Amino acid sequence: MSRTPFGRLAPSPTGAQHVGNARTYLVAWLSARSQGGSVRLRIEDIDSPRIKPGAAEQALEDLRWLGLDWTGEPVMQTTRLAEYESALEALKARELVYPCTCTRSDIASAASAPHAGEELTYPGTCSHRCVADALTLAGEGKSFAWRFRVKESPAFTDLFAGDQRVDLNQVGGDFVVWKSAGTPAYQLAVVVDDAEMGVTEVIRGDDLIPSTPRQLLLYSALGLTAPRFAHIPLVVGEDGRRLAKRHGDSRLSALRDADVKPEALVGLLAWSCGWLDRPEATSARELLPHFRLSAIPKEQFVLSPELLRGIGYG
Ligand code: GLU
Ligand code: ZN
Repeated sequence: MSRTPFGRLAPSPTGAQHVGNARTYLVAWLSARSQGGSVRLRIEDIDSPRIKPGAAEQALEDLRWLGLDWTGEPVMQTTRLAEYESALEALKARELVYPCTCTRSDIASAASAPHAGEELTYPGTCSHRCVADALTLAGEGKSFAWRFRVKESPAFTDLFAGDQRVDLNQVGGDFVVWKSAGTPAYQLAVVVDDAEMGVTEVIRGDDLIPSTPRQLLLYSALGLTAPRFAHIPLVVGEDGRRLAKRHGDSRLSALRDADVKPEALVGLLAWSCGWLDRPEATSARELLPHFRLSAIPKEQFVLSPELLRGIGYG
């Protein structure tokens, strides 16, 4: 049975959306549209200490400015805690998770997507515990996270990057699905949401490749159908590092304030993806006949100040 193709845009309101995010969103939108589908929008706002006031509204404005639309209402993760909780209960019922009392910073940061270089491999310190031990721990007033017991590392074929095999014992280890603060971790929330939102295709930055085998483990543990995945190279500065403040202000809101036309940025991104010969102004909609996932270069896209000047910025 074939399902209606749905992609998704999943901004985190932990900061502003920048040119790098815009490129991924454009690819996700075009891919879904070119298959006769559309995208859903989800605001990943469960990482409470890091959420910036106003950033969610700003992200919606950024997306509209780019000319990207979505089906249905934006889904806010903070309204879905009961769903994440029942997924956790299902994992507990099958002893697929165990309570972990380690107070490392990797637990504290587990709520958001682990982007490159942000994570440590868990040494399995608490893996001798079983689900029932949680009662004792709670009785002792101890706080604990829940970790998923990794027994295998599912390989997968990425629609863009090809065959992927990440050894989870080397990368991350048993991973957190529920934080000790009592809130869901990114890996669990994203799976529950993508499944319920009917997402058939996940397109995101390739720094999240190591998250995909974990999410595949959760899909199968929860009896859910996994989407297909395409991981796209990131946008970097001239020093080859992930786009950041030191490369200048590449926030979409800054481009907007400087009166850059969204079509100019979309044209630049389309050229970077190999769909146009030159960075000429165009709209997302006009790109539909030009879209090809396989035309996107395998290398990271280097965003230079010259390229930004070319679209009337700086
Ligand atoms: N909200 C996540 C981020 O901004 C996206 C995670 C995902 O696409 O799975 O990095
Ligand atoms: Zn532990």
